[in-house]
Order: sequence, then structure tokens, then C-alpha cells
Amino acid sequence: MSLMSFASESLKNLFRKPVTTKYPFEPAVYPERSRGHIEITIDDCIGCGMCVRSCPLGALKVDKIKGLWAINRFDCIACGYCVEKCPKKCLFMKPGYQTPDEKKMEESFVKSPEQLEKEAKQREEAAAKAAAAKKAAAAKKAEEAAKAAKAEEGKS
Ligand code: SF4
Ligand code: SF4
Repeated sequence: MSLMSFASESLKNLFRKPVTTKYPFEPAVYPERSRGHIEITIDDCIGCGMCVRSCPLGALKVDKIKGLWAINRFDCIACGYCVEKCPKKCLFMKPGYQTPDEKKMEESFVKSPEQLEKEAKQREEAAAKAAAAKKAAAAKKAEEAAKAAKAEEGKS
């Protein structure tokens, strides 16, 4: 770089805005498509476990009955496989990184009591429906067997 161009560049830099920001006093601006971290809309989760099975790091945990979804953020590499695999689209990447810490910690999300109650009711209703269908099928089978036996008796 010649002395002239060096001087002109230095002069321009005197009037340019700094490229750095005053973080943490100013909010960080994340570039478009930055991966950030995983978040969940917990009430939409059906506890299918697809995210757990797709995670290459084993960073996720799901308990369907308790309505719990947990992530070990210090194991997560933000690959996004869990987001891709979630059939309910309740996982998403949010800009911003996890807070550094000395210890590995798990972050848990639990469904609201109203949602848990609603799901327990739905499970009970589905079980009652299945039991009624089973009973009806057994009764039909018994009726058909009785009919067949009667027809056999008529032949002899
Ligand atoms: S982003 Fe990748 S590493 Fe992180 S929890 Fe999802 S699947 Fe696991
Ligand atoms: S894949 Fe989605 S719906 Fe299934 S357990 Fe994970 S977060 Fe819940």
C-alpha cells in the first residue's frame, strides 16, 4: 500500500462508524440464517420422541405422560435435525446463543396443567372407545359362533 492510499484510508476511517457494537449494552444483532438455539412450543408437543431419536448427541429427553421436554444445551451442536424431524413443527431455531456456564445444565419445559389435564382426558376417552370396540367385536364373534353352531345343529 502506497503512503498516499494508506493516508486516504486512515482519513476515511476517522469518519466511518465502528464495525463493532457495544454489546452487552446494545442488543446483539444476529445475521440472517444464524442457527442460534433450539426452542419449543411445549403445548404442541405430542411426546412422540422423534427429536430424541434424531439427535446425534443425545441432548434431548421427552416424557410424554409428564408433558416434559428437556435439552442439555451444552451438548447441543445446533445441527437442526430435531427441528427437521418434529412432526408437529413445535421445535424451532431462535437467534441468540446459550449463556455460558461452569456446569452442564439441562433446561426443561413442562406443559401447562390445563394442557396435561386435556391430554389425560383424551387418553381416557380413547381407552374407553378402544375397550368398547373390543367388547363389541367379541360380542359379534360370539354371536356368529352361536349362529354357526345352530346351523350345524339343524343339519344333523
Ligand atoms: S439441534 Fe441437533 S444436537 Fe441440538 S438437540 Fe437438535 S438434534 Fe440434538
Ligand atoms: S419430535 Fe416434536 S412432537 Fe415429537 S417429542 Fe419431539 S418436540 Fe415433541
